[in-house]
Amino acid sequence: MGARTDIVIVGSGIGGSTVAAALAPSGRRIVILERGERLADCPEARDLEAIFARHHFRPDETWFTPAGRGFNPGNYYCVGGNSKLYGAVLVRYRAEDFGALGHLGGVSPAWPIGYREIEPWYQRAEEMFGVHGDACQDPTEPPHSGTYPHPPVPDEPDIADLRHRLKLAGCHPAALPLGVDVEKWLARGQTPWDAVPDTTGAKADGESVGLAQALSYSSVTLETGAQVTRLLTAADGRVRCVEYRQHRRIRRLAARLVIVAAGAVNSAVLLMRSANDDFPAGLANRSDQVGRNFMNHNTTAVLALHPLRHNRAVYQKTLMINDFYLSGGPGGAPLGNIQLLGKISAPILAAAAPTLRPVAGWIARRSVDFYAMSEDLPDPESRVTVCSNRVVLDWRRSNLEAHAALVARLGALLRRAGFPVILSRSFDHRTLSHQCGTARMGRDPGASVVDRYCRSHDHPNLFVVDAGVLPTSAAVNPALTVAALALRCADHVRQTGSIAA
Ligand SMILES: Cc1cc2nc3c(=O)[nH]c(=O)nc-3n(C[C@H](O)[C@H](O)[C@H](O)COP(=O)(O)OP(=O)(O)OC[C@H]3O[C@@H](n4cnc5c(N)ncnc54)[C@H](O)[C@@H]3O)c2cc1C
Repeated sequence: MGARTDIVIVGSGIGGSTVAAALAPSGRRIVILERGERLADCPEARDLEAIFARHHFRPDETWFTPAGRGFNPGNYYCVGGNSKLYGAVLVRYRAEDFGALGHLGGVSPAWPIGYREIEPWYQRAEEMFGVHGDACQDPTEPPHSGTYPHPPVPDEPDIADLRHRLKLAGCHPAALPLGVDVEKWLARGQTPWDAVPDTTGAKADGESVGLAQALSYSSVTLETGAQVTRLLTAADGRVRCVEYRQHRRIRRLAARLVIVAAGAVNSAVLLMRSANDDFPAGLANRSDQVGRNFMNHNTTAVLALHPLRHNRAVYQKTLMINDFYLSGGPGGAPLGNIQLLGKISAPILAAAAPTLRPVAGWIARRSVDFYAMSEDLPDPESRVTVCSNRVVLDWRRSNLEAHAALVARLGALLRRAGFPVILSRSFDHRTLSHQCGTARMGRDPGASVVDRYCRSHDHPNLFVVDAGVLPTSAAVNPALTVAALALRCADHVRQTGSIAA
């Protein structure tokens, strides 16, 4: 047996780093095992051709479709995880998202906790990540017990003009809640931050916030290049230690508490790969729910342009529209969220649509670029499995009718707002930015993986704290909800003495 500690956290993304920060003041010895390394600054960090066309930051990894077709997933392994490249939108699920909600594609089930129960941790997460926002602008905004710590990130002049046009067209654009220090971001380079790696600490992400806070305690250490390969159990069913590969060596670390936060796909993969004689279907999997209910939003990029009008925005991403979020579809069905993308430029457009390469610069100089996002509903057959050691992703997309209706309503709105040309393209299975749902939270141990506090129903000292626990995907970006659940889990662990148990 190798070394021993109090708490091991697998992964330093939003979930792992936030729970680490919240547990650090307990004084317990915490070791964070992170598969990736810290992102160093380099010329490619702000080279849009390198990022979007040459995929410089993508891992050299292949996942497979059920038909056996390999693909390179947009899933990033570095200290801070996917949040190093995220768009820094830190938005709450709407209160209605926690109850059962009928969609065109079926029913989105109720969470085991309601909005009122999670609200205090949303507030704390916004304070921790220093979110810029205004809770009074959006008609669907749920109640806040406090205010945002910072005012909204300012619209650039052409986006202020867009906001005005949208209001005249009859909708309610609202400030997008963001965790970014714009001046610091732009000081490194005049680029958008959405899907661009942060090497400056300008984004409030897993590394710059959660990990920075956790590592200010001498009891917390971070091991990088440490890929956890399996969890081992004791005769009483508790997790006894984790096994990981670091610098080509296999190591073991025993812990009293193990928190898996490797991201929705990789946490499920790790639990399944940890199968043993006592737990033949994998750990935390007596319900057979690990890997199931995989979700990822239905998303489309929508470019609106006027041939005679330039969009000079650099970052662009400052507003959202929720007029169709809770209704707007046939029979008043919910359709989803609309928000601005980071400003599209020629290299990004040419990489996404090679046939547009000759006119990519012309379009990009004139376009305003939106992201339409609709809920993907949980389906037990939509799942991640491990087959002959390969990661197989069988994503069964749902609710596509609602998404098509959202894109159509956005197109009509933009025409009314003075944009005669609308181009759109949906993101496919390689863009897994909002992956969630593979270790879902629930009250019933027979139908869920973790309880209301993210503790495995099967192993008392095992928690899953990442996007995998989300029972539904709603239609807003997931990171703030993951952070809120991580803070709530840490409070529960400390209050119930789970570490000592
Ligand atoms: C381009 C892009 C833009 C996005 N924009 C937004 C946005 O604006 N707002 C928002 O809310 N969300 C956004 N997201 C999604 C958001 O980043 C994720 O929902 C969130 O970061 C998920 O956090 P997590 O803790 O679940 O997992 P991850 O971020 O995936 O973190 C998991 C960590 O575990 C590590 N790891 C994996 N396997 C192992 C292992 N076996 N051993 C050790 N370590 C391991 C990984 O390297 C990683 O650091 C975006 C994502 C992308 C890719």
